[in-house]
Amino acid sequence: MILNPLSNQVGGHDGVLSMGDDNEIIVKRALPQELKFYEESVLHAELAAWMPTYYGTLTLTRNQPGQAGDQSSTSGVPTIKALNGYALSDMMAASTLGQQDGANAVATAMAEADDTAAEAEDNDANDDECICLENVSLGFKKPCVLDLKMGTQLYDDDAPEEKKARLGAVAANSTSLPLGFRMTGFEVYDSEKDDFTKYSKHYGKGLSEDTVLDGFRAYFAAKLGSDRMRLIIERFVNDLTDFLATIETQELRMRSSSLLMIYEGDTEAFDAGLAIEQEKIAAVVARAQAHMEKGAREDQEGDDDDEDNEDDDEDDEDFEDYDEDDEEDGEVGQKVTDMRLIDFGHSTWTPGQGPDEGVVKGVKSALALFEKLLEEDYQTD
Ligand code: ADP
Ligand code: MN
Repeated sequence: MILNPLSNQVGGHDGVLSMGDDNEIIVKRALPQELKFYEESVLHAELAAWMPTYYGTLTLTRNQPGQAGDQSSTSGVPTIKALNGYALSDMMAASTLGQQDGANAVATAMAEADDTAAEAEDNDANDDECICLENVSLGFKKPCVLDLKMGTQLYDDDAPEEKKARLGAVAANSTSLPLGFRMTGFEVYDSEKDDFTKYSKHYGKGLSEDTVLDGFRAYFAAKLGSDRMRLIIERFVNDLTDFLATIETQELRMRSSSLLMIYEGDTEAFDAGLAIEQEKIAAVVARAQAHMEKGAREDQEGDDDDEDNEDDDEDDEDFEDYDEDDEEDGEVGQKVTDMRLIDFGHSTWTPGQGPDEGVVKGVKSALALFEKLLEEDYQTD
């Protein structure tokens, strides 16, 4: 099983992993609260649409199976000990898993899971419970990733007093309390250096209401030219507007959840992504137009004109071709931007309690600042 460190992790605790042929699955240690949040998200489709797809869970162990007592086994690379979730088994069976045959690897993992269950509680200190999620950065060649921590309150209501005081101070001394968000970490592709410029959480914590716009300027600094950058910011404005409409209807408390924003930092890949989108839009428009024209013709000429009906059948075949596209099943095409909500270790569904006003505030402030950027830095004329 190939587990890799996630190559573009920008925030949070170290050690987020990815796996699969294209590193399409994120493997992340998770608190029971985060697991519960993902499990229950099926009941909240509107918000779940903003979350990475949840594939299941697995247990990683640093004790290599069959090598008990081997000193070297405790030192290093984690291996999969148990695997849960049909989606995940299917995905892994379908992909090439290192030297192992895919189906075998799943069978092995499942058998180990059964052994584990039979031996009752076997969760020793070397085990990590992980969630498996869609890797949102898949589909980008040079993903410029920003982790924007949302909300004014960063701790659970039942957190220990010490933690409340500590995180309360962090919020008050950063943009979290006044604006409802904080830039946690981000990285920007620099085409001249062919490398990413990285900004740590300390950079984000040092920003104030007065300087946070410069923080966003630093994030939108990939050398793509101002037209592309304007487009990127406009898309995030659209996403944030839609997201705001969603969370105003959702009853939950997000403590330290993040919006993960990503844009393509490579010019050619960016343009390729746009071209793919435009082809798709053109196909949809063409189909809708043909449909309307066909309807109009039928209205005018009635149904008994055989020749015309044959023409219509030919038209229909053309449109079926459009549907099939170049994309293979399940393959993620080149993206231009993406925005998702992640990190639910301290988030809970709270039916009856109304929306999370701290997060609503954060989205509104971010929107206002992005719009200011468009006015000041990226005017159209
Ligand atoms: P933590 O609880 O440690 O803060 P997060 O869920 O915030 O964990 O993840 C940490 C980092 O890992 C994020 O800032 C992001 O860079 C990356 N990451 C997490 N989930 C995903 C995902 N589904 N797709 C892509 N990157 C992710
Ligand atoms: Mn996080």
